[in-house]
Amino acid sequence: MFDKVLIANRGEIAMRINRACHEMGIKTVAIHSTADANAMHVRMADESVCVGPPAARDSYLNIPAIVTACEITGANAIHPGYGFLSENARFAEIVGEHGLVFIGPKPEHIRLMGDKIQAKKAVQGLGIPVVPGSDGGITDDHEAMRVANKIGYPVLVKAAAGGGGRGMKVAQNEGELSMALSTARSEAKAAFGDDAVYLEKYLQLPRHIEIQVLADSHGKVVHLGERDCSLQRRHQKVWEEAGSPALNATARDKIGRVVTDALTKLGYLGVGTIEFLYENGEFYFIEMNTRLQVEHPVTEMVTGLDLVREQLRVAHGGAIDFNQEDVTFSGHAIECRINAENPATFRPSPGLIKDFHVPGGLGVRVDSAAYSGYRIPPFYDSLIGKLIVHGRNRTECLMRLRRSLSEFVIDGIETTIPLFQALVTEPDIIDGNYSIHWLEQFLKRRSA
Ligand code: ADP
Repeated sequence: MFDKVLIANRGEIAMRINRACHEMGIKTVAIHSTADANAMHVRMADESVCVGPPAARDSYLNIPAIVTACEITGANAIHPGYGFLSENARFAEIVGEHGLVFIGPKPEHIRLMGDKIQAKKAVQGLGIPVVPGSDGGITDDHEAMRVANKIGYPVLVKAAAGGGGRGMKVAQNEGELSMALSTARSEAKAAFGDDAVYLEKYLQLPRHIEIQVLADSHGKVVHLGERDCSLQRRHQKVWEEAGSPALNATARDKIGRVVTDALTKLGYLGVGTIEFLYENGEFYFIEMNTRLQVEHPVTEMVTGLDLVREQLRVAHGGAIDFNQEDVTFSGHAIECRINAENPATFRPSPGLIKDFHVPGGLGVRVDSAAYSGYRIPPFYDSLIGKLIVHGRNRTECLMRLRRSLSEFVIDGIETTIPLFQALVTEPDIIDGNYSIHWLEQFLKRRSA
């Protein structure tokens, strides 16, 4: 196993990776910006290196500084976490060129899945069903109209380089299409430096259901079931569950097999998530994430597996030491993303946390790097912690979530805890009866 791993991230995910390393007897190196010198992820690691000033582009995205930090400390592998450099194929290559191990998939697979047009083509060729849409990128408006008429309105214009829900525009009819195209193109250009877009049928009431996979370098691929991430705001996940209230064991096994077959053919390595929209009993691929995801803990809670431990093992060349039949799903888990934001307007609320008290007890897990007296810097995203609860069934899980939310104290800043307190008492949520549009409609009703 690796002697020392550098964690190229911050916040709760850096803490999460640090925990797995320490449980495996691996030494850790934290990196940090000048704004994070006193951060908890730095204190928990065995060593730390300052890699630059507050702006992420100068620190957490500073490839030369990060590689140098490895050389100075003698770390032999880099775990990128999520966000930042985790889906940067060139970074993965550079890490390899320096004789270090990138804890993640092969660079060519990161690159392939990072271009959503190429990704869709590739997975379709591997037998995964995709959302009907353009065969490739759309360059002129006439072609867009032809495709839209064929698949039928409403259609969604999406950015090839898209991520974080940006660069997506709906056109209800032909009149709205050229506007949607030009807005999506300019948003994509501004956000990703790439204005390539493509068209998809806009599904009306789907759920977002994703399949977690794990692959080793010996040709074994297993799936670890699904997560339902339908509760979203601005196409970004807010609440995630394992399993999905909409799926039974037969449907799970079926899609799981499709996905593991495809990734076996691809020769994939590491953890990954295949994201689908699910409507009327059918799955439609939207994208693949070639990294650990924010919502991975709900899968850990129902499978009992440590995904970061598995990542480290397969990155080191180890074989997955269980078979698909050994993966069992026990009970139900829900994760709430607690953000430092106003729970109604979602305006960021950085600043000093005066008091921080986390809930506990059976089936309760809090992944966070916050503490009493911590000052949230204004430079990074607003996720300050994840509350993950597990119960023997969904009802127990919801009651435990309700109880845990009432114990959670975060004073001094605004957080999204009150939003989750409202959600756990909503009949549709209790019944598991929601699509990807449910939360936006709920928020609209509440602000009216
Ligand atoms: P990103 O990479 O920006 O996260 P995704 O392709 O993963 O973009 O889509 C994010 C979310 O946008 C989905 O979970 C879903 O809510 C919505 N979405 C994406 N494609 C479609 C579609 N064809 N029809 C309806 N909603 C969609």
